[in-house]
Amino acid sequence: MTVRFDGRVALVTGAGRGIGREHALELAARGAAVVVNDLGGGADGSGADAEPAHEVAAAIRAAGGRAIANLDSVATPEGAAAIVAAAVSAFGRLDMVVNNAGITLGDWPTMVDVHLSGTFYVCRAAWPLMVAQGGGRIVNTTSAAGLFGLTVDGPHGLDFFAYGAAKMGIVGLTRGLAIEGRPHGIRVNAISPVAHSRLTAWYPDPRVVAWMERHFPAAKVAPAVAALLHDDCPLSGETFSVGGGRIARVFVGETPGVSDVEPTAERVLAQLDDVTDTEGFFVPVDTADEMRAYRDLLVRRTSGS
Ligand code: NAD
Repeated sequence: MTVRFDGRVALVTGAGRGIGREHALELAARGAAVVVNDLGGGADGSGADAEPAHEVAAAIRAAGGRAIANLDSVATPEGAAAIVAAAVSAFGRLDMVVNNAGITLGDWPTMVDVHLSGTFYVCRAAWPLMVAQGGGRIVNTTSAAGLFGLTVDGPHGLDFFAYGAAKMGIVGLTRGLAIEGRPHGIRVNAISPVAHSRLTAWYPDPRVVAWMERHFPAAKVAPAVAALLHDDCPLSGETFSVGGGRIARVFVGETPGVSDVEPTAERVLAQLDDVTDTEGFFVPVDTADEMRAYRDLLVRRTSGS
């Protein structure tokens, strides 16, 4: 099977540099017309530079592909609407969105604006087009900093909680949009990339930076994104850790837990080992699925088993 996107239109945000640049090149090489969006700001979101987006779009065209540059910010509803409008204006449709634009330095509102709201604004702008077309594919970008927590200090101290919170919000958005998109043929997944870029170059230990540079080039993330965007991928609502040629599913699971008809704080404390024991965990597909665990518990209690 060859993964091709001929006749399809892709939008990649933050595609002027780093991981997004590789997504754009990969999708274009596989036949997609690509909107290369990038504000071109600093790692804290400040400033703007048209050069990165234009460079990538020019590289795609030089290789025989179709691409336009777009310089709007994802962080406002107007910016996101303009990005999607640019896709329609240039190519007449929009089939795939990769929400990748991001920064690592910034206060709480900035982090939420760029990552969580930015992803939402672009999805919201693209959604009616995808519904009208009878389908679409979206890949959002989360982070291990949100999924697992980042234990090192950032350049300005312990400032990754806002980044992590915004990135984890994207997982919730991805789950929700996957459910909303199901009747419309829209599939939405997320990746948590691991790749050397300017966003990882700040790391305090230069040996780790050199190791990242050598083993985790940004280009090794793009193939997984192309696979998730393809019609043959049936998955939706999932999150994957991707980097260095590895791809793995990341999921939210629940332990079997313990139950008392009349719980007390003392008994909860006494049973913490059992509460947290992951043996026999399950992965609910949605809240109704989780409620089935409670329903089963009540059935067991009623039957006395
Ligand atoms: P990068 O800085 O090289 O690329 C991000 C691009 O997004 C930049 O070119 C920047 O100009 C653009 N951008 C920022 N704000 C924007 C906005 N408001 N509108 C449009 N474009 C904007 O960094 P990267 O490492 O390639 O990061 C790409 C994505 O992957 C980010 O969402 C980042 O949080 C995420 N991520 C990266 C890693 C990693 O290991 N590099 C790990 C986890 C998550």
